[in-house]
Amino acid sequence: MNIGKRVAFMLGVVLSVAALGAQTVITPPDNKYTPAQDVELGHRAAAEAEQQLPMLRDEIVTSWVASVGRRIVDAIPEELRHSEFRYTFQVVNVREINAFALPGGPMYFNRGMVQAAHTEGEVAGVLAHELSHVALRHGTAQATKATKYEIGTLLGAVVGSIIGGNVGSAVAQGTQFGLGTAFLRFSREFERDADLLGSHIMARAGYDPLEMASMFKTIEKQGGSGGPQWMSDHPNPGDRYAYITREAQTLQVRDVVRDTRAFTQAQAQLRRMAPAPTTEEATRNAAGRRGSAPGSEGRRENPSGTIESPSPSYTSYTEGDLFRVSVPSNWRELPGSNAVTFAPDGAYGNTGEPSSSFTHGIEIGVARNETHDLRTSTDELISSFARSNPNLSRPSSYVRTTIGGRQGLRTVLSNGSNATGQPERIAVFTMLLSDGGLFYALGVAPSDRFPEYDGAFRRVIGSIEIMQ
Ligand SMILES: [Zn+2]
Repeated sequence: MNIGKRVAFMLGVVLSVAALGAQTVITPPDNKYTPAQDVELGHRAAAEAEQQLPMLRDEIVTSWVASVGRRIVDAIPEELRHSEFRYTFQVVNVREINAFALPGGPMYFNRGMVQAAHTEGEVAGVLAHELSHVALRHGTAQATKATKYEIGTLLGAVVGSIIGGNVGSAVAQGTQFGLGTAFLRFSREFERDADLLGSHIMARAGYDPLEMASMFKTIEKQGGSGGPQWMSDHPNPGDRYAYITREAQTLQVRDVVRDTRAFTQAQAQLRRMAPAPTTEEATRNAAGRRGSAPGSEGRRENPSGTIESPSPSYTSYTEGDLFRVSVPSNWRELPGSNAVTFAPDGAYGNTGEPSSSFTHGIEIGVARNETHDLRTSTDELISSFARSNPNLSRPSSYVRTTIGGRQGLRTVLSNGSNATGQPERIAVFTMLLSDGGLFYALGVAPSDRFPEYDGAFRRVIGSIEIMQ
């Protein structure tokens, strides 16, 4: 054999190995949070989601979803397992085709998604994709990329993007800009990684990875004009079906799942039930149930009369590694809106549950902005609130103030409370962080009690220490 032939022969060997194909190696992105923080965040967001959304309690359906879920979890590669994580599976009794998984493992699958699926493998495909985001810790990785100040608002961001604009304080709804979707809406790079890892998990669990691609097509088709929430949270990197198909050629499906009678039974069971409400209807009903809780009526009509004055003693809170703040000691920390809120009992919706409109207290958060100019970004922030608060006044002027040792702005707006219909005033404080994020605080009180609360708002602002 001459040298030329030998080279050709060796090349042939290399090529044939490549043609057999090696699966793409998927590694978790940079993440400055610990797996324990993923768990904590997911746990709190799950509690909120389960309070807001109707969970389906049907043994046939839930036990089937749990069994598919267990199979998928068992197929997560060894190196991507976190001993802290607990994967759980619930079906949400709403119509939209959507699913979401929270950091650390809680997973929610809309009834609409189950009903739209043609096969068990399609359901498994969405599960595998969602669980890949969790195993790769994409939520907190996204936060790592976004800004070092956002962790304090992450929880609200999770819940905000699950539930959309249907609940949440009227003021907080406005703050969703830049934050509300920061956490469950993934980059195209993360999408591709979740697709590819999802295909590996599918094959290991006994499902054809192509069924994941076919479920994505089903979702796209049923989306209607705006497209379903799932597609906007999980954008198609562009060539999704092509690369899933290529990847599938490198994979061997092990222990193929053939018995899918439980899937058929679950779908039959769902068809027998009354049609699922939309998420909007369901969350409105949840709010209605809270509103009619015993003892709440008096408060609703006259919230000012029953709510204590701000305590003269203060309690200090540390919000992640973002900032420290002291608030009146009779205010509770309520991480339920798109930022952290501190409010007295009874001021937060009607029963003290998070994510209702708050009538007294202060909300603190960080919003992204493009302008990097304090005045302009404050105007933009206020405009965004006005979208969900039609009666909100516009600032006539700003007053310079100091927040955490930095130059900030303050103004006071008037509004009609979405919770009570009564006039309220909102003290707005803003300050630019060194990374360009807009740190803001909104002190809210009914107009007749604003002078009393304004002193507390100023003292709260005066206590803020920004941590680096
Ligand atoms: Zn995704």
